[in-house]
Amino acid sequence: QPIGSRVRLADLPLREDLRGGTPYGAPQLDVSIRLNTNENPYPPPPELVADVTAAASAVAGELHRYPDRDAVALRTDLAAYLAASTGVPVTVDNLWAANGSNEILQQLLQAFGGPGRTALGFEPSYSMHPIIAAGTRTDWVPAPRRADFSLDTAEAARVIAERAPDLVFITSPNNPTGQSIPVDQLRELIAVAPGVVVVDEAYAEFSSQPSVLGLLAEFAEKLVVTRTMSKAFAFAGGRLGYLAAAPALIEALLLVRLPYHLSSLTQAAARACLAHGEQTLRSVATLVGERHRVVDSLAGMGFQVVPSDANFVLFGQFTDARASWRSYLDQGVLIRDVGIGGHLRVSIGTPEENDAFLAASKEIVR
Ligand code: PMP
Repeated sequence: QPIGSRVRLADLPLREDLRGGTPYGAPQLDVSIRLNTNENPYPPPPELVADVTAAASAVAGELHRYPDRDAVALRTDLAAYLAASTGVPVTVDNLWAANGSNEILQQLLQAFGGPGRTALGFEPSYSMHPIIAAGTRTDWVPAPRRADFSLDTAEAARVIAERAPDLVFITSPNNPTGQSIPVDQLRELIAVAPGVVVVDEAYAEFSSQPSVLGLLAEFAEKLVVTRTMSKAFAFAGGRLGYLAAAPALIEALLLVRLPYHLSSLTQAAARACLAHGEQTLRSVATLVGERHRVVDSLAGMGFQVVPSDANFVLFGQFTDARASWRSYLDQGVLIRDVGIGGHLRVSIGTPEENDAFLAASKEIVR
């Protein structure tokens, strides 16, 4: 029995609004085939490992000093990557970085949300948006998608105008459903939003649609584009998320960020990883190709597959999704029960992992 185990959560003076809540909890299980958190399945190659190690060892001798509080070198590299990949000439002053895009989202809610304020999102979407809203005491306003999980732009614009939220979250491609929203439709939604619009582009590299970043000049007073190195860049363990926005917006985040939030090790490792970006991002084409193969195979087996523009696929119909998730696990394949009735989500893995998943799918009771 650990010390203090007589103390129960219910007895603590926890904030009333957090009582009865559930923490984010994708199971981390020791299974050989893990296709449950939309990671890049390809580990860093030896040259990258060597460069990350060298970068870490270069800063190790300076660990008695705090890191660059504003992560200028890293933000400069991130700006160069975004500018090159989107053609939008963002610079270091448009970029902000933190420990995963989750921390970026939290800083945005700390600065622009909070008690008495609202944030709206179109569900089902990324489960952390409402959880981070709750943590910052921002009222969450769930808005619907169509039954096929696509977004009805006209209806979405109407809801934004009617509810006038302080923040709107739009995930494109959307997690866990996979569809992305064309830029023209995003423009309509951003135009009617009275507050900050966060377009969460965690999966942008996998998408066939252009980035919403092209609208930044037009909507500089409200548009924020969030990104992550956790997916396409294969850096989930490194924890690095970032955003692009007007410099004033970043000034706002400086008011809420913790000083020295990005360790010198994180900054150095992320820069080393970015330097290998071209090589790492070659996996994107492979993963998109594999996504097509997985979608076609599942459809061939009679599953209903939601069209995906990302590195994962939502599929059904299961009579009991929880039980089917279990039987995948029993076959050594960990996928994700995202809590959408009759559906499960699978991340695209290596061809071998996808083969194992597809083999298991043939055996699954629906
Ligand atoms: N946004 C979306 C839509 C995501 O799916 C994820 C990861 N699951 C994140 C943000 C957060 O990723 P990270 O904190 O690793 O950058």
